[in-house]
This record gives sequence, C-alpha cells and structure tokens, in this order.
Amino acid sequence: MLEVEPTEESSGFCDCCGNQTRTVWGFVHKSGRTVASYFVQWTVGKSIEDHPANFDLIYGSWGEGTTKCDRSAVSLIHFENAGVPGVSVVDTTNRPAATSELVGSALTRHDVIGTPMAQEVFAIFDAVMVQDPRLS
Ligand SMILES: [Zn+2]
Repeated sequence: MLEVEPTEESSGFCDCCGNQTRTVWGFVHKSGRTVASYFVQWTVGKSIEDHPANFDLIYGSWGEGTTKCDRSAVSLIHFENAGVPGVSVVDTTNRPAATSELVGSALTRHDVIGTPMAQEVFAIFDAVMVQDPRLS
C-alpha cells in the first residue's frame, strides 16, 4: 500500500515552446518508510497528447543511515496516443533528477524495463496520479 504525501510546487517556462510549466512534488511512503520522491512537470494549457508530461522519481531508501548511493533517478513520460493514455520509462539523461545531489546513479530505460523495479515504479506512478489532488 503506497501513501502519497504532496509537498511543494513551482512554475516555469518550457524549454521547447516557452509555454508556462507547472511542477509539483512530494514523497511516496510504503509501510511507514519513504520509498521515493516524485516530481511531475507538465505544460499548462497543452494536452499530454501534444506535450507529454515528465514524471521523475528519486527512487530508493531515504532517511537516517542512507546515502545518495541508496537512491537512483528514474524518469517516465505520461503521454496520450489516439486518445489512449500511457506511461513509459525513458532515459533519465537530461532530466534535472539525473544530476541531483540526492542520487548516486541516473538510470536508463534499459536499466529499469524487465526488472522488479519496473513494477514498483509503475505502481508509484499510479499511486501519485490517484492520490495527489493537484494532478486530477
Ligand atoms: Zn514545450
């Protein structure tokens, strides 16, 4: 059972089109332990069909006794194709999470797909989309 704790948010401008973007973030807990922090960034006024949303995770162990080497950056995109929404793991390269001081490694799609981590990452995505009221 994943529990989502929304925290802060900010706005900015998209690198590709200059439209306003919004970013919201927070933590995901499982059985009382933090398992990830998440950052969702989308372009205001654009559908995810035209402009996929970024969903970045800092995934791993948090808190006392942990270091950045216990955590990895994982990136997903949330898109829509012919009216059907989807989510896909992408390379973390070029995402801000990849160079965060909080992570020891930045994972590629290849590192994640087909591993047990992929299941957990998709479960975290689903929990955030349902439980963070800023994303509905
Ligand atoms: Zn753009």
